[in-house]
Amino acid sequence: MKPQADDPMQCSEARAAIQARLDEPLPAEQETALSRHVTECKACGTYQAELGAMCDALRSMPVFELPAKIREDVRSAAGKHDAQ
Ligand SMILES: [Zn+2]
Repeated sequence: MKPQADDPMQCSEARAAIQARLDEPLPAEQETALSRHVTECKACGTYQAELGAMCDALRSMPVFELPAKIREDVRSAAGKHDAQ
């Protein structure tokens, strides 16, 4: 049985949702329940902030493909320019 939308979210659910949201966006209904929970629950609000900050720090590390791809595009664009 599906819980009602106005049922308060439990901390364990909130934390699972916070983690899941790092990988992919939550369904709108869950996002709403989570944001309501973290505004009322200080512990989960802190958890979300800490996890978010940690995730931002990881994302700022130069381990992703995108910058390399951009560099390659720039190099090939520069190469074309030189050939003319
Ligand atoms: Zn909580």
